Amino acid sequence: MKIFSVFGVSGSGKTATIERIISELGRRGYRVGSIKNIHFQGFAIDTPGTNTWRHRQAGAEMVVARGLTETDVLIPRQLSIEEILTFFDHDYVAIEGVSNTLIPKILCARDETEIEEGLNDLVFAISGRVSNRISNFQDTPVINALSDVERLADLIEDKMTGCLPFIRELEQCQACGGSCRDLASRILQGKATAAECLAGNEVIIKVGDRELSVDYLRQMYIKNILAKILVKLDNYDGEEEITIDIRKRNNGMDV
Ligand code: SF4
Repeated sequence: MKIFSVFGVSGSGKTATIERIISELGRRGYRVGSIKNIHFQGFAIDTPGTNTWRHRQAGAEMVVARGLTETDVLIPRQLSIEEILTFFDHDYVAIEGVSNTLIPKILCARDETEIEEGLNDLVFAISGRVSNRISNFQDTPVINALSDVERLADLIEDKMTGCLPFIRELEQCQACGGSCRDLASRILQGKATAAECLAGNEVIIKVGDRELSVDYLRQMYIKNILAKILVKLDNYDGEEEITIDIRKRNNGMDV
C-alpha cells in the first residue's frame, strides 16, 4: 500500500488536484482509497436527532449506518492516521489536508509565498493554482493537475515506495543510523530504499515455508487485533510472543 498526501491552504486547489489524481490512478488500474482531513471545529456527519445519533447518545462506542447504497461507520472520536489506514487494503491511499506526517506530499499553493511557507524535504511535487503560472520552483516540479495529470501520476508511481513503519516524527528507533525523516527524505530523492529501515518484522507470516512480505502498518494491525482478542481470552499482557498456525480444513478449503 502506497500513501501520499496533498496539502496546502484553503483555496489552493487541493481537492481539484486530488480528484484528478485519484481518477488517473484508477484509470491506470489501481485501487485507490482516500482520506479527507477536516479541520472545522464541530464537524460531524451525524446530526442531532437521527437514529444513529440516538444510538451514540445511548453510549454505543461505534455505530454502523447500513443503507441501500452505502455503509457509514461512525466512531465518536478522532482516529489517528495510522488507525484509519488499517481500514484500507488499496494500492494507493490519497490523503487530503494532512501536512504533519512523514508521508510523501504534493504541496498545493496559490503563489510563490505559499510555496515557500509549505515546501519541505517530503514534498516531491507542487500543484494547485500556482501551476497555472510556473512549472518549476527551485528543484521541485510544479505540475498542473487539470492539464497534465498523467505527469503527476507518473511521478507518484515513480516516487512512492511501500508504506514505511512510521507516520509520525516521534517514532524514531534510529536503528538505521538516522531519523525516520532522514530516511523518508532520502527515499524521495532516490538515494535510499524502504528496505534500509530496520524496524519492523514484529509479525512474521509464513504460508507453507514461504515468508510473506507484510508492510509495517499491516503488521501493527494484525498485532493489535490479536492482542485485543487475547486480552479477552487469556488476560494476555502484550509481552509474550504469539504463534498461530492456521491449518487447511479437511475438505481442502483454505482458512
Ligand atoms: S529504522 Fe526505520 S523506524 Fe527506525 S529510525 Fe530508521 S527509518 Fe525510523
